[in-house]
Amino acid sequence: TDVDWSTDSIIDKRDKYYAASQRAFVPYQKPLILKKGKMQYCWDEKGNKLTDLLGMNLCISVGHAHPAVVEAVTEQVKNLTHCTTMFHHPVPAHLAEELAATMPAGHEWVVHFTNSGAEAIDLAMMMSRAYTGNHDIIALRNSYHGATYGAQAVTGVHGFRHNVAQLSNITFAAEPNQYRGIFGEGTDPYLDEIDRTIAYTTSGALAAMLIEPVQGYGGIIPMPAGYMKGAAEKVRAAGGLMIIDEVQSGFGKTGDSMWCFDSHDVVPDIMIIAKGLGNGIPIGAVVVKKEIAESMAGKFIFHTYGANPVACAAARAVLRVIREDDMINNAKTVGAKLHEGLLQLKDRYDIIGDVRGRGFMQAVELVKDRDTKEPAPDHTAYVFERTREHGLILSKSGTFKNVLRMVPPLCLQMEDVQPVLDAYDRSFADLEKANLG
Ligand code: PMP
Repeated sequence: TDVDWSTDSIIDKRDKYYAASQRAFVPYQKPLILKKGKMQYCWDEKGNKLTDLLGMNLCISVGHAHPAVVEAVTEQVKNLTHCTTMFHHPVPAHLAEELAATMPAGHEWVVHFTNSGAEAIDLAMMMSRAYTGNHDIIALRNSYHGATYGAQAVTGVHGFRHNVAQLSNITFAAEPNQYRGIFGEGTDPYLDEIDRTIAYTTSGALAAMLIEPVQGYGGIIPMPAGYMKGAAEKVRAAGGLMIIDEVQSGFGKTGDSMWCFDSHDVVPDIMIIAKGLGNGIPIGAVVVKKEIAESMAGKFIFHTYGANPVACAAARAVLRVIREDDMINNAKTVGAKLHEGLLQLKDRYDIIGDVRGRGFMQAVELVKDRDTKEPAPDHTAYVFERTREHGLILSKSGTFKNVLRMVPPLCLQMEDVQPVLDAYDRSFADLEKANLG
């Protein structure tokens, strides 16, 4: 082919031709060049096999090159690669119907397809302001909602708030982190925090609040029981809507149900999805109560590739495969085994301060001292590099860069668990030998 796979060539070209903003995010010291993916595995350019515990940043939901998705995409590309929503096509229309059917009964649900998650967040913010007539929006600290101007403005994760003018009328409440949150454990202190945030930092009239049921980039911070329900009551009492961002937690990742909000006894007004919806083919969507979407009737909002038939064909295959292959149940049972094994590692390695998550959204947080919970970013960086040498792809995340995050594709199998745990074990043993102090 006409591409040069050598590391030096790739690095040279990136350094020379990528904008600085696109070069910034390189997790490993030694670049990871990926050549092939098949279900839960990837191979680098030298043929080394890795277990993809991150689903390529959560985009690979049902597996790399899943045959059903490959077939659906190939068929669609051959027939018609693109038509915009100006023209009619059955594939996006079917997908809209199928997504609406996944939502709670008792409401009429409609869908607006976008190119990405961030655009869907922008649109949801616009819809909430148009529908309520209010402007103030509350987001959570430690959240990630995307990189457009609007989505960035509601993103509270450390290091993502840049010194550029931000959108106005957005405030942040402390996230209910049960391990190291500023108000400690429990739900009530964080619901009080929402009251205070409304009272002191908004006009009292809200457009919306955004919540990820499990904060993803923030380091796998699951919302505690009762928090989302309580938040929804407070936000609605102030005239606002609940925007639930299921970009990471959706598609059965937590092993309970298709959408994570189902386990929290709350119904969103607007749900945001992207990433895993296309199994790697770019697509995002706003799924919204019909009467709210109607507030935008006659307003021209156009995403060129929104409702692209290839992306929508991929998404239809994803929804079908999750159901037919009982993948949510797989995430529950395999995830439980993984969790159990990680807890055993915690018993053996003091550096592990916390093991948390459910199903296929899990994390290990590293601390220098279990009592003070002092973060151990250098040790985390070391273990992270070793896990790659031992055949895993993970993410290093969290405010203090001391969290190893796992969100594997829904097809990870029971027989993968022991090798994954062994790779972790070897990596922590390497850390002990390295004696970082
Ligand atoms: N919401 C969440 C929870 C996300 O993790 C992301 C992307 N990481 C987004 C929104 C934005 O999606 P995109 O990158 O497709 O714009």
